Amino acid sequence: MSLLRKGVIAITGTTGVGKSQLAIDLARALNGEVINADALQVYKGYDIITNKVTREEMLGVSHHLLGFVESNKEYTVQEFEQDALRKISEIHQRDRIPILVGGTNYYIQSVLFRKSLISSSSRGDDKPDALAPEEASTRVFEQRYSAKSNQELWEELRVADPVMAENWHANNRRKVLRSLEVLEITGKRHSEWIRESEAARESEEVLRFPTLLFWLYADAPVLNQRLDSRVDKMIERGMFDELDQLAKDLSDSTALVGSSDNFTVGLKQAIGFREFKPYLAASSASTSDSPALNLDSLKQQGVEDMKTSTRRYAKRQIGWIRNKLLPECNATLAKSVKAYPYVLDATDLTTWDASVGTLGVSIAKQFFAGEQYLPDAAATSNVAAQLLSEVKEKPNSVIAWKRHLCRVCSKSAEETRSGVAYDVWLNGDDEYTQHIHSRQHRKNVRYRKQLAAYGGTFPSSNARPQRNNGGSDDSSGDGASSAGSGS
Ligand SMILES: [Zn+2]
Repeated sequence: MSLLRKGVIAITGTTGVGKSQLAIDLARALNGEVINADALQVYKGYDIITNKVTREEMLGVSHHLLGFVESNKEYTVQEFEQDALRKISEIHQRDRIPILVGGTNYYIQSVLFRKSLISSSSRGDDKPDALAPEEASTRVFEQRYSAKSNQELWEELRVADPVMAENWHANNRRKVLRSLEVLEITGKRHSEWIRESEAARESEEVLRFPTLLFWLYADAPVLNQRLDSRVDKMIERGMFDELDQLAKDLSDSTALVGSSDNFTVGLKQAIGFREFKPYLAASSASTSDSPALNLDSLKQQGVEDMKTSTRRYAKRQIGWIRNKLLPECNATLAKSVKAYPYVLDATDLTTWDASVGTLGVSIAKQFFAGEQYLPDAAATSNVAAQLLSEVKEKPNSVIAWKRHLCRVCSKSAEETRSGVAYDVWLNGDDEYTQHIHSRQHRKNVRYRKQLAAYGGTFPSSNARPQRNNGGSDDSSGDGASSAGSGS
């Protein structure tokens, strides 16, 4: 199957940077159709406060999931995911290219990435199937070992499966027993099961579609100015009428979830709704007989607040792209279904065609001709080189797993002279192996044994280990949750 039949283009970037324009440029050049991925623009009406692209601006390009939800309805990300996936499949069937555009990060993420994977990375999916039915066998096991102390069991595990032993606190009898049981029943160490399931997860595909991702970017000082003047323009275009209408609309509605002060649902999230609330309230209470004195200053305050909120929102969007989306995309480069991120520099609007429109179209054509033709993303502009070099690597679950806590050498507050507890972490298997053969560690093992002989126990974990859900209250399975630090 050619990329054309299964690939998608996704456009992300801050509010007010020109994403809709780029989508239209690409759709016209590549026979594409646009799917809206903005949580506010899915709503009907309110075109000014939601910054919807106008019919004239669309230039005949098909736009989907735009302005189709009633304003008093809640539209969930799950609904969006289903709707968008259906649209993508329909567009593919028409042999056209789906172009997903929007600044709502969880919308983009829900469509591009398979959910099972993102959620399973924090689940510790290590349960050997051979162990079902688990409860019955565990009870037999518990009886057989009932005479042994926690410490004795843990020592047994330390010999049989040292990696698991380091993962469990000796007092976590249920976990320790479970790991011993896995070894006995399956003939394979619990830690190996976990490693294998992690390896399997590594080879799973994360992306739903081969993806060409455009991050449309503008330098902050320029963008902020643009955002400010956009707020002014929105007011000129009649934003207050829309806000009045929205307030009525939402207060009439009984369908809306949450109280009227809950700004996190649906259209209430629109920047401006909260910011101008005091002004609009005073303005509607004001009559010619008793005019509100401070109306102007309330309005001025609203404008300032709206500008601040808009900038802040743009900043959050960039943080998400840089710290979440791009690392996720880069991690797919080791998979067979990949996402290729490109930065397009929209700082200078007078060079839009060269730095955004034409460049984007040319990259997209290369993508659909075959991934091998794609240019080096960092070579497309200085801004691209800089932004892409700042992207962090995605935390890798295997690295997290390989970080070992040595409970033998870690000390509780009561055990240190200073009264400050500390944990001993070893990074990677090699360091860990070296450590358990070290003089220091062996000395501590002897100390612990003596302590046990006097009826003492191991210190409880000091800092809560990142990967270890070692509490006995844990009912989510026996996962070592090695990937727990994944985000
Ligand atoms: Zn140690």
